[in-house]
Amino acid sequence: MSTWAIVLAAGSSTRLCRCGYKDKKQFLSLDDLPLYWQSVYKFSRCPSVSGVITAFPRDEFEDKKNEAEALVRRHGSGVPVKFVPGGDRRQDSVFNALNSLPRDCDLIFVHDAARPFFSPALLQKLLNGLENASCTGVIPVLPCRDTVKSVCGASVEKTLPRENIVLVQTPQLFIKDGLIKAHNRAQKDGFTGTDDASLVEKYGGTVHTVEGEEKNIKITTPEDLECLKNTGEKQVREITGFGYDVHAFGGSRQMILGGIPIPNGPKIKAHSDGDVLLHALTDAILGLLGMGDIGEHFPDNDPENLGKSSSVFLAEALHLAEQNGLTLTHMDLTIITQIPRLSEYKPLIKKNLMGITGLNERRINVKATTEEGLGFTGEKQGIKAVAVVSGRKNNQE
Ligand code: MG
Repeated sequence: MSTWAIVLAAGSSTRLCRCGYKDKKQFLSLDDLPLYWQSVYKFSRCPSVSGVITAFPRDEFEDKKNEAEALVRRHGSGVPVKFVPGGDRRQDSVFNALNSLPRDCDLIFVHDAARPFFSPALLQKLLNGLENASCTGVIPVLPCRDTVKSVCGASVEKTLPRENIVLVQTPQLFIKDGLIKAHNRAQKDGFTGTDDASLVEKYGGTVHTVEGEEKNIKITTPEDLECLKNTGEKQVREITGFGYDVHAFGGSRQMILGGIPIPNGPKIKAHSDGDVLLHALTDAILGLLGMGDIGEHFPDNDPENLGKSSSVFLAEALHLAEQNGLTLTHMDLTIITQIPRLSEYKPLIKKNLMGITGLNERRINVKATTEEGLGFTGEKQGIKAVAVVSGRKNNQE
């Protein structure tokens, strides 16, 4: 089963332009990337999607196509991403995209680029919905919580039963042939629908619903634009950093792990104090920050760092974290060595790190293991440590 996605980024964005915005909403920036790219990228990362077609306004087509192709090169899409010029109406853009689909495509998502916040789980829900029902399309909907009335001018005609009313979102998923048939008929009849499901319904197809997502809002007004800044999910990013370090035995430094001296451990070769655990931890924090590695910040040929306590390196990394709006949330640390036994030192190391980082005891885990006599640690030639650190970072930074 081959599934493609059509991302519609060809609208004229009338409401925002009327409010003085120069850029069409689909080209506004979210996390320094154009709004349409959020959807293109999300579709391209869905394992069930074989390709994406994006429709851009005809008068900006070449510029936007070049921009998007550069984004594909930079971020990688994993699947083909094609571009078509849009039409005058939304459904003309869909029509153009449908005509560019590969022959072997069976299912098609149609999505408005102005809804950047849908989750990958919604795509799966739609796919499951279509698989389990004999229908032409599946659409995400939300219940209507407000009272709904039909009006004539300023006068109310009647109150509609809201139990039967739902609010419709995109992406919508269709069997390709059914959608193409509906579009061809609509084209011939000059019928205009506000979404693709309405065309399918009109021409005899059946459309089922699945529960949509509250956060999957459509950016339409300047107020909605605030959501680009304020969406909780977007504002805070959960990130992970990884650190790894090795030191050889046989030097002149007393073994020190996580800032705790290990008197019965073998001597360590090192330029600094050779605290393999704090080196791995410092590297993991630099990893979270996207700021290189410990060697770049504290070169081991710098006399300044000779014999230096690794707590200084860790303190500097924590300082950088604070300066960059990074909050550490958890660290899981493992020391790998054949000798000595470390069980009595683990609580001391943990306590020391709790003091340095301010994290509580449930947020720091210190483990020790051997490699069963294998490899350089097994042969007691050296020691290694790995650190996995989680944190939260403000996405705007
Ligand atoms: Mg080191």
